[in-house]
Amino acid sequence: MKELIGTTGLILNEPLLWEKGKKGRCGYSLPGRDVESFPLDNELTGEGPDFPDLSEVDVVRHYTRLSQWNFGVDTGMYPLGSCTMKYSPKTNERQAGLSGFAGAHPLLPSDFSQGTLRIMFELEQYLAEITGLDAVTLQPAAGAHGELTGMLVIHAYHKNRGAQRSKILVPDTAHGTNPATATLCNYRSIQVNSNEDGILSVESVADVMDEDTAGIMLTNPNTLGLFEENIRQIAEIVHSKGGIVYCDGANLNAVMGIVKMGKIGVDVMHLNLHKTFSTPHGGGGPGSGPVCVKKHLEPFLPVPRVVEEEGRFRLSYNYPQSIGKVQAFHGNIGVMIKAYSYIRSMGPKDLKKASRLAVLNANYIKESLKDTLHLAYDRPCMHECVFSDEKQKDDNVTTLDMAKRLMDYGFHPPTVYFPLVVHGAIMIEPTETESKEDIDKFIEAFKAIANEAKENPDLLHDAPCKSKVRRLDEVSAARKPCLTG
Ligand SMILES: *Cc1c(COP(=O)(O)O)cnc(C)c1O
Repeated sequence: MKELIGTTGLILNEPLLWEKGKKGRCGYSLPGRDVESFPLDNELTGEGPDFPDLSEVDVVRHYTRLSQWNFGVDTGMYPLGSCTMKYSPKTNERQAGLSGFAGAHPLLPSDFSQGTLRIMFELEQYLAEITGLDAVTLQPAAGAHGELTGMLVIHAYHKNRGAQRSKILVPDTAHGTNPATATLCNYRSIQVNSNEDGILSVESVADVMDEDTAGIMLTNPNTLGLFEENIRQIAEIVHSKGGIVYCDGANLNAVMGIVKMGKIGVDVMHLNLHKTFSTPHGGGGPGSGPVCVKKHLEPFLPVPRVVEEEGRFRLSYNYPQSIGKVQAFHGNIGVMIKAYSYIRSMGPKDLKKASRLAVLNANYIKESLKDTLHLAYDRPCMHECVFSDEKQKDDNVTTLDMAKRLMDYGFHPPTVYFPLVVHGAIMIEPTETESKEDIDKFIEAFKAIANEAKENPDLLHDAPCKSKVRRLDEVSAARKPCLTG
């Protein structure tokens, strides 16, 4: 096997700190006491937890080694489809860490938090501009939370019109969180199947849309990485029956500043700031899922909202039809500041360029690998492309085998077995932040793996061979994790 990036060598084992400690070791030394000793209270000197004694270098090596078992965007390419694992410029992190922002208490009166409130106010305006919608809430803490907020807004809208509806249309190419959100809001999801091009046909929506249906919840670009080209006519049909068009905008990275969703019929849309707008994610850290809406849905947005009066900013609760609060305080401010900093440092031209490059990179991979892997839909894609293991069937090699083997070549595997509409799916999203050289190495690795599938399939069944742990029983690994390394 050819080495593509540094994938072998010093992966060091590391015991638990308790196993590593030796009585009497010390991580610091204090200067000698120059005052009288004084007996402490018994409560302070009694039996404490049995912390191990460690030297400074013990501790530094311990945590550094653990960090080296991890893989992130700062380590290498992370082409996890649907997740937009792009590199986030460090400057945005720096702005969010400025003490004026990071140290501000969320209960500060507005007179003392004008800077933060202004950033929130302007960020809402930028997101409205980018999506072509009219009003924005920054409260939701993640994409799925944004979906729930958006659905609650739709629910409140129908209730306010005097007739609650019982169903919602959800395409088979929607993200899995979409039907879950609809169910949480007590809507029954009606699945609409995509056509042979991987998108929704106008007829399939017309067939099922009726006046007991609250609207449609679609993902655009959808989870096949394809743009819903019929969205305008679909929106017309939904609107003609009094429904609302919800767009899951977590895939906005493909169309920033290029498609104004508000102009093509979308009424509500959530964004994932932690995917598109420069917050690293994947470790369960804070996210942000703003919801953008058209004017007629604005009264239902969560409170408080940031308002401006004569150049001063304050929080207002004066929205009697609001669905209420969906998150503590202002939401995840740090993520908002990173998004603000990203948008301001990129500007309109470079946001568009980022999306264009994300689309170009995905199409480059699609074209380069389509002789190696079966391409589910052979048409131009947006920010991600979906293959399957169809061509490797005869070699008895599966998507999982190839994904695991990719780790031996030094790449994080792509998303596998999702979307469900493609059997054995391999969903690759390179993002705009990968260089052509790195993408070429990734393509080369996949070609080498497809060769191995023909010549030595057993090698792939055993993969990964070079990682710290070999192939795990994933169910047991998730349910009974072994935390001792
Ligand atoms: C990631 C994603 C979500 C969910 O976002 P979270 O922040 O993980 O809750 C929803 N829809 C799509 C299309 C996504 O890619």
